[in-house]
Amino acid sequence: MTSGTPDQGLRANLARLEAQQLYRRRRIQEAPQGPHGMVDGRPVLSFCSNDYLGLAAHPKVVAALQSGADHWGVGSGAAHLVNGHSAAHHRLEEALAELTGRPRALLFSTGYMANLGVITALAGRGDTVFEDRLNHASLLDAALLSRARLKRYPHADAAGLARMLAEGSAQLIATDGVFSMDGDLAPLPALAATSREAGAWLLVDDAHGLGVLGRGGRGSPDHFGLGLDEVPILMGTLGKAFGTFGAFVAGSEALIETLIQSARSYIYTTATPPALAAATLEAIAIAEREDWRREHLSALITRFREGATQLGLALTASPTPIQPLLAGSAARALAWSQALERAGILVTAIRPPTVPSGTARLRITFSAAHSQADVDQLLDALSRLPALDA
Ligand SMILES: *Cc1c(COP(=O)(O)O)cnc(C)c1O
Repeated sequence: MTSGTPDQGLRANLARLEAQQLYRRRRIQEAPQGPHGMVDGRPVLSFCSNDYLGLAAHPKVVAALQSGADHWGVGSGAAHLVNGHSAAHHRLEEALAELTGRPRALLFSTGYMANLGVITALAGRGDTVFEDRLNHASLLDAALLSRARLKRYPHADAAGLARMLAEGSAQLIATDGVFSMDGDLAPLPALAATSREAGAWLLVDDAHGLGVLGRGGRGSPDHFGLGLDEVPILMGTLGKAFGTFGAFVAGSEALIETLIQSARSYIYTTATPPALAAATLEAIAIAEREDWRREHLSALITRFREGATQLGLALTASPTPIQPLLAGSAARALAWSQALERAGILVTAIRPPTVPSGTARLRITFSAAHSQADVDQLLDALSRLPALDA
């Protein structure tokens, strides 16, 4: 007897997702992160990792994790406010504050949790939070959880935001620094001016800018020459360009102390392993020192954009390692991804609800670990895509 059971309801929903080409499946990686991987038993050349600087499997980062484990063991044992806050975590916070040019930084277990923590600590019932329409899901979820009113302004449109602000007050304005699915940059100078005029906090989630943009990888605010006064809350993740895991929020002394006292996703969770902090310290040092990684990445992006233009592919205005190819329908994005996979190239199709309906795409990403020949191989496979111009 299955008719009408809760489980049957789930199965009906799953069948509908499958019919709409929106069903998601995990591939099984059988090799460390890197362009040349092994997926479901087959060698692949991948272009969909956020390991932008090629540090996720860097031997020095691996060695730092190992010696960190020799010194600290594995588990942190408790939350930061109990007895889980180690000297390794503390040194990493100091290094992140220095890297970003802010007085303090506070580690969170993940970027998702950092965004939940900071927005719920600063905004509540009766407040209004303004967010770019294309912000990362964690920023949108955080505003919903805060019980503040959430208003979404048109993408990357500071003037549109200013018009909306004229109708009421704002507690906080939040934006991706580099948009995660589009690769374009937020207009930070204009957003900074607008938020200052409104007397609101500006939170920049720089998950995809940190390590990649700015001097020594200081991120998108630095790329625009903006500091603490213009961008008072900078959130960054450690699992992307820095190749490890975790996240942080950087800002003033008062901001960080407020988060320590009241950010629930900081307080009520176990600190990440101290050895991970040791590994991240090493990754940050490499990222800051080795400018050649950013220069090589930038050369790969230029080569890709020139080649793609010659093929007549429609590129977006992205100057970053995130280079989307818009497919429109989920079915078409999937068909492209599957055709590339048959050619030994892995680029996952990004479909709604991760992106707005009608904007399914291939999200191509580059890493300093790719070679020019890898880019040429991708271009060659793209030139053979079925009905690219249909
Ligand atoms: C990946 C990402 C996050 C979440 O970070 P995790 O550490 O993976 O939880 C938050 N914001 C943006 C823009 C991201 O791309």
